[in-house]
Amino acid sequence: MRALTILGSTGSIGTQALDVVRAFPSQFQVLALAAGSNLELFRRQIAEFQPAFVTLANRQGAEILASELAGTGTKLLSGPDALTRLAAEVPATMVLAATVGWTGVEPVLAAIAAGRDIALANKEVLVCAGDLVMAAAKAHGVAIYPVDSEHNAIMQCLAASGPGAAPLRRLILTCSGGAYRNASAEEIALAGWERTLDHPTWDMGRKITVDSATLMNKGFEVIEAHHLFGVPMEKIQVVIHPQSIVHSLVEFADGSMMAQMGRTDMRLPIQHILTYPDRRPTTLEPLDLTEVGCLDFLKPDLGRFPCLAMAYEAAQRGGTLPCVLNAANEIAVAAHLGGQIPCGGIPELIRQVLDAHEIQPAASLDTLREADRWGREAARAVLAGMNAAPRV
Ligand code: MG
Repeated sequence: MRALTILGSTGSIGTQALDVVRAFPSQFQVLALAAGSNLELFRRQIAEFQPAFVTLANRQGAEILASELAGTGTKLLSGPDALTRLAAEVPATMVLAATVGWTGVEPVLAAIAAGRDIALANKEVLVCAGDLVMAAAKAHGVAIYPVDSEHNAIMQCLAASGPGAAPLRRLILTCSGGAYRNASAEEIALAGWERTLDHPTWDMGRKITVDSATLMNKGFEVIEAHHLFGVPMEKIQVVIHPQSIVHSLVEFADGSMMAQMGRTDMRLPIQHILTYPDRRPTTLEPLDLTEVGCLDFLKPDLGRFPCLAMAYEAAQRGGTLPCVLNAANEIAVAAHLGGQIPCGGIPELIRQVLDAHEIQPAASLDTLREADRWGREAARAVLAGMNAAPRV
């Protein structure tokens, strides 16, 4: 039986992970759950899975929960470092990091230091702190298993290529193209959040759906792949694959390519990791390739999607710049979802923040905390200027 801690249990990945747990009740024990603000759903999860420890970020919700849980077998951790304490102190064998953004960085580092394997869905952790996280995982003998479908596909391809490390030519990450795959630059520039959230193939949380529309998500995933698999940025290619059936590919030095395919359903990579190294039968409908028919692969258009190019640039220039990229993106995405800027405002805002940043070596968590704080502040200042200026 595997003891799990799930960070972000009421989000898209968290709820689907609990679907997997439900499908294999004898395989898992849910030791701890952490959520952000969805008290109603969190309450139901606690009643169903009876975790020993929980935490809820929203203060009002946490106060209500504290009185409800008094005298039960579930202990509520509270305070600003509750998520980090939960990740580190609860004796889980695996911590599923399914939070969003910078929020996951410190809990993941703490869980690694405590020797817990990580199932990673929160890709921004590697964008912000990839060098620190991978070094810590190595030092503590901890595995970081990718839940992100592309990286999970690459992990499966590498494992299937046979024993020993095969020499690689490239990693190829597939990308649905997001909500604006066929939109013109002018349309994207002025588009509002309702259209941005209309993703053609994947059903995901709001933040990642915006990142998918700008292709920042794919840029983050290139950085994530670079850290997870130790492959240089220039050997990681992105191809647009509108059907989202091939989840990613590996090209070996001999020219052979291996791809991993499957339904467009995050429960497949989640189950692969939660039950790893075993493979369990799925309860999902099988994929009928004749219904899919064609598989298309196209070049991404960096002119219409400057966020993808900015992610390559930030990782290649290195240091604190990827962390600042993430901070600026978090502010820009929230502003877009709040109706303050159109979709085209996202890359515009991020560009200005990147240009203003003086890169430091990403040597410590303190340096990254400061870069994250600086990036948010700089992004808010740019945003204020954008909102003050008359828009055509
Ligand atoms: Mg992905």
